[in-house]
Amino acid sequence: MPWFGLGVYKVSNGNEAVLSVKEAVSYGYRSIDTAAIYRNEEGVGEGIKQSGIERDQLFITSKVWNSDQGFDTTLDAFDTSLQKLELEYLDLYLIHWPVAGKFKETWKALEKLYKDGRVRAIGVSNFHVHHLQDLIRDAEIKPMVNQIEYHPHLTQNEIHQFCKQEQIQVEAWSPLKQGELLKNETITTIGNRYGKSPAQVILRWDLQNEVVTIPKSVNFNRLRENASIFDFTLTNEEMEQISSLNKNERIGPDPDNFHF
Ligand code: NAD
Repeated sequence: MPWFGLGVYKVSNGNEAVLSVKEAVSYGYRSIDTAAIYRNEEGVGEGIKQSGIERDQLFITSKVWNSDQGFDTTLDAFDTSLQKLELEYLDLYLIHWPVAGKFKETWKALEKLYKDGRVRAIGVSNFHVHHLQDLIRDAEIKPMVNQIEYHPHLTQNEIHQFCKQEQIQVEAWSPLKQGELLKNETITTIGNRYGKSPAQVILRWDLQNEVVTIPKSVNFNRLRENASIFDFTLTNEEMEQISSLNKNERIGPDPDNFHF
């Protein structure tokens, strides 16, 4: 799984999705994170096609939406996602949110898809430690990834530690807190030392914390900027300074209290 990829939440289906995916691939992005609920899988698929890159060079993720959870409905939702993307397989398929009373049946469907060779890896999103423990208790296959809200204001130490111990890869959503962290003084000061932007510093902090990161942008300059994070290294002290900005503050809902 690539350490770095493109998020396409709120990217509109059609030209915006097609062009940002195509452009991102040309800047070296190899991983794209979409979901049924983003309603842009057709555009993402078209962007992949137009990029001209070989399918096996890419890592494509999608997610089953809450209203489709359950065994048969998840298998149908997976087929629909593949059709929209015009792909033969996915690299990663995730349960989008831990819908109570449903996510275990949904997981059984993901296990089937994995065993049938229709997806290369399966995982979850927005799972707290107790959700993971509950799932693992009955699962045949352990989730391989947990995609969670993760940024310097929400460092998720407990989940991160648990996932490390269970060999579940943590992946950050809203790594830039949807832009809210980009004026932070600590982060800006650190960036100035390396000639790097606040976005690049945060994304680098993800990598050095061994967290996969998928920032979103449709702006070509920012797409390129966000991908340029492999040519500098933050010191341990800088890593700690950024981590100490944690306020346990979310931009999205708490997975213990969502109503959709
Ligand atoms: P993000 O933290 O990636 O922020 C994106 C916003 O930051 C952009 O819209 C833009 O305004 C700004 N930005 C990006 N690069 C910038 C730069 N270099 N300079 C200045 N501003 C910049 O937010 P996100 O889109 O919410 O999260 C990333 C991805 O995570 C999503 O696109 C989606 O794929 C995934 N996601 C998953 C879930 C989930 O429940 N699993 C939830 C939200 C997002």
